[in-house]
Amino acid sequence: MADCIFCSIVSGDIPATRVYEDERTLAFADTNPQAPTHLLVVPKEHFTDIADVSRDPEVSAAYLAGIRAVAEQERLHDFRVVFNTGADVGQTVFHLHAHLLAGRPMGWPPG
Ligand code: 5GP
Ligand code: ZN
Repeated sequence: MADCIFCSIVSGDIPATRVYEDERTLAFADTNPQAPTHLLVVPKEHFTDIADVSRDPEVSAAYLAGIRAVAEQERLHDFRVVFNTGADVGQTVFHLHAHLLAGRPMGWPPG
C-alpha cells in the first residue's frame, strides 16, 4: 500500500533491523524500544489492524504461527503481545503489527 511505512519496510525501501522472516511474516526491531526485547511482527500483506486480518482465517493462522516462530527463535518464554487497535489506544501505524515485548517485569493493567 502506498504511503505505508511498514509496507516500505517489508519491501526493503525503508531499512529496519530484520530479525525473522518467512513467506508471509516479517519481524523487526522497534526503533523506540519499550523493553529489552521489543520486536514488531507484521504480515507482509497490508492489513489495517487485528480486526481487519481476522476476516481472513488463513492469513490469521499464518500470522499467529509467525508470531510464535519469532518468540521461539528469540527463545522468549515470558513475553507480552500487544495489538494497539485504533488511535485512541495508541495505534500510530495503520499496518497491523504485534508488539512482542520481553526482558523486564511488566505491570497489569497497562497504563
Ligand atoms: P503503534 O503505536 O502503532 O502501536 O506502534 C507503532 C510502533 O512503530 C511504535 O512502537 C514505533 O516506535 C514504531 N515505529 C514507527 N516508525 C518506525 C520505523 O520507521 N521503523 C521501526 N523499526 N519502527 C517504527
Ligand atoms: Zn502497509
